[in-house]
Amino acid sequence: MAIKIIRQEGDPVLRQKAKPIPEVTPNIQKLLTDLADTLYDTQNGIGLAAPQIGILKRAIVVDVGQGLLELVNPEVIHSEGEQVGPEGCLSLPGLSGEVLRAYKVTVKALNRNGEEITITGEGLLARCLLHEIDHLDGVLFTDRALPGTVGFGSDRPRKKK
Ligand code: ZN
Repeated sequence: MAIKIIRQEGDPVLRQKAKPIPEVTPNIQKLLTDLADTLYDTQNGIGLAAPQIGILKRAIVVDVGQGLLELVNPEVIHSEGEQVGPEGCLSLPGLSGEVLRAYKVTVKALNRNGEEITITGEGLLARCLLHEIDHLDGVLFTDRALPGTVGFGSDRPRKKK
């Protein structure tokens, strides 16, 4: 077990572009394990990207309740539809906002064995994949949130119907 410190907004590492991983080595497998250990330690997190633990490499883990996905060099190869829903982030505790995302995405990546895989996800899984891939490009959900929807807990402005 290696639970890492989750970097918080304001840490410059969250705003940098992560580097592609040329090969899935034992060190990268350890990075994936650290990401999963750190994610599960949060209780409420559903995804974590390597820059959030200070590592500028393109690796993410996601678990929206359907099991752990470990993705190296994830890349969106197809997206369709739209969804608007609330989003939060382990690097911005307590903050949430409404974000427009694709409803369905297909992501190509390498798994922990270095094999190429594709994952298709809808709804929350699509949202989570897109959120984590954004982290690899230094993008936070607050950059994408609909104007006037970002706030803390019950103080968050509600979208009018
Ligand atoms: Zn996040």
